[in-house]
Formats: sequence, C-alpha cells, structure tokens
Amino acid sequence: MNRAEIIGLFDRYVVPSYARYPLVFAHGKGARVWDADGKEYLDFGGGIAVNLLGHSAMAEILAKQASVLVHASNLYYTEPQGRLAKRLVELVGVEGKCFFCNSGAEANETLFKLARKFGNESGSRYEILTFQNSFHGRTLAGISATGQEKVKHGFEPPVDGFRHVPFNDLDAVAKAVGPKTAAILLEPIQGESGIRPATPEFLRGLRRLCDERKLLLMFDEVQCGLGRTGDFCGFRSIASDVQPDAISWAKGLGGGFPIAAAWIRGPYADVLGPGTHGTTFGGTPLACSVALAVLDALDRDDLLRNAREVGQYFIGKLQALAAKCPAIREVRGLGLMIGVELTLEARPAVLKLAEHGLIGIAAGTNVVRFLPPLNITRAEVDEAVEKMERAFCQDGNSK
Ligand SMILES: *Cc1c(COP(=O)(O)O)cnc(C)c1O
Repeated sequence: MNRAEIIGLFDRYVVPSYARYPLVFAHGKGARVWDADGKEYLDFGGGIAVNLLGHSAMAEILAKQASVLVHASNLYYTEPQGRLAKRLVELVGVEGKCFFCNSGAEANETLFKLARKFGNESGSRYEILTFQNSFHGRTLAGISATGQEKVKHGFEPPVDGFRHVPFNDLDAVAKAVGPKTAAILLEPIQGESGIRPATPEFLRGLRRLCDERKLLLMFDEVQCGLGRTGDFCGFRSIASDVQPDAISWAKGLGGGFPIAAAWIRGPYADVLGPGTHGTTFGGTPLACSVALAVLDALDRDDLLRNAREVGQYFIGKLQALAAKCPAIREVRGLGLMIGVELTLEARPAVLKLAEHGLIGIAAGTNVVRFLPPLNITRAEVDEAVEKMERAFCQDGNSK
C-alpha cells in the first residue's frame, strides 16, 4: 500500500483521537527508520522513549521466547516474571517488590491504588498530590492525576482525590498537605510538558515532608527511568540520596514490546494483597523475557555510561548551536532525555525536522524532545545536530 492509501484507512476506520503527523513508517533498524516512500530518517524520538536499543533490536529474543511460552496468566507462576522482578529490585538497590502490567497509565494506576489502600488503612486518607504540567497517562484516573487542562477537557467530572501543586515549590507542597493526603506523585523530570527536571533540594524536601506527614513518595519514571538519564533511576541523576516508596516504569522497559511495572518499597510491598489488583496480560513470560534482554543489554553494552557520555556530548553540541542560532532559546536535559526550546511552535518544528530527515517529539508548546536509543553513537548525534542546523539555523537565521 502507498502512503495515501494507508492514511485513507485511518481516515475511514481509526478513531481520530491522535493528531498524527502525515508520516507513514514502514520499517526500522537501529536508530534509523524508513517511511512508506523509502525515505530514511534518523529516529531521535525512539517512539516516545520506547525503543531503548533501537529498531529491530528485540527480534531474536521475541522469536526465541515465542516458541517456548507466550502467556500463562497470573493464576500461575512463571520463571521470567520472577527473574525480572528480582532484577528490577536489584537495580533499584532497595528492598521491595514489583507488580507487572502493560502501560504507563496502568503502572501509575497501581501507584494510585497503593496510595488509596495505604491511606485508607492509616486513617481514611485518599488524596494524592501531583504537580502542575505533569503527565501521568490517559485513563480517567491518569488524566485526573495529570496537571494539564488539555487532557481533562470534556471528560469532567475528574476522579476524586487529586490536587495539583506548583512543581519545584516545596513551600506550596507543604501548605497543600492536608488530613486527607496519603501520597505525593511526581515525574522527577517532567517529560511531556517540556523536559523540566526537579531540583535536588525539591526531591530531598519532598522526602522529608513525606516522612514527617507519613505520606508515600511516588515517582513516575515511565519516561525518565530505565537508564535514559544515565542512571537506571532517573531521580538518582538529580539526587542520589533520595529514596522513593514506589516507582512506575513503562515506555523503554520492553525495548518496544509493551510491558510496564511498579516497584513498591519493602514496608509497603504487601499492601496490595491477594485479590486487590491484577491484569490478565501483566508480566507474561514473553514480555518479561524481552525486558530481561533489554536489562542484559544495558549491562553488557555499558549503556548507562553511553547515555551519560553521549548525552553530555549531544547537549554540548546543541548548546553550541543555540549560541549562534536565534531559533533555539534553550537546551536542557539529563543524559539522553533532552529538550530544545525553540522560538517556533513545537508541532511545525517537528514537521520541519522530519523534512530534513530527523525525528524528534513535540513537548509543551515549543519544545522538541530527543529521546534516542541508549546505544546512540557520537556520529549519529553529529548527524542529528547537522540536521537541526539545516532545519532551524540557516537562511540567514544565525546570531
Ligand atoms: C508516557 C507517560 C505515561 C503514560 O504511559 P502510557 O504507556 O502511554 O500509558 C505516564 N507518565 C509519564 C511520565 C509518561 O511519559
């Protein structure tokens, strides 16, 4: 099928809930992807931080496990789920347990239910404080937790028990904690709204506040976790001494295959007891084997270091470009989670970049995010920066 025919199928048969770009992708390899016309792109969006090892990287393990055991259900035990849980707990480095599901919204739902159960058991508390400009997924509870009007509009009334406070403002959070508050949930680096990291003082202050007021501190690491910042836990790239009570992961965990998880710290790890939470597809042997292969690759290929080093190199080159290019306002980020704030609007900017053969992801109103595979090379970064320059910094557009 050609490009127009494929788009025609969507117009007629797919619910139009996404504002899609007119790009049709056909196949990919490593950091490159090709469209239906055969045009090549350097993919620095990674399918929104999902393709942790690049395109087509999971083929071997998918094929291997597919002929062993794909699905059994959570009525029974399977080895890959147990091994993946152990591996994730070891990577966090603090005693705890994992719950497996299929998407970021679902991983966050696990945290909401943990907070409710914990709050109800410790004195009819149910409220979760979240932050302005946060993003926590598209389910009804997810959009209620999300601190952005645009996702809530038309779906009123919201799920009860979420309140949004200003990000990086510890005083505001302390004032907002009330007798019904059970937990605080945040993205240590806000992703969707434009790559904005929490400050180390903020994370430390929240931990103190949660200890004082007996609240759960929960981190949504769906986007910033899993090595993206150069640490397995994104928050450790900001403050290595802070320890949350729960973490949600999704996006990159399966390197493109859908799998998500929540980690819950030791004292609270049994709060969600038998019969309280579940999902049919959570932690299948196939999904868990693929995730184990992703974590093996992080280790084997030293990808946390690559994310740190190549990320720093990338940020340096983008900052040098910003210095001579008025279209670039600011470059910020940690490791390979990078936001470039432009004077242009994000959506046309992303389209323009695609014309030059580079895929980035819109964030906020005028930020382009780069979330490339963690095995990206300096040569690929050089190529991406050249494309940025050609897209935004030529035609007399230099400072
Ligand atoms: C993408 C994202 C989600 C939602 O994940 P889905 O898999 O789309 O449900 C939640 N939180 C953050 C921080 C995200 O970036």
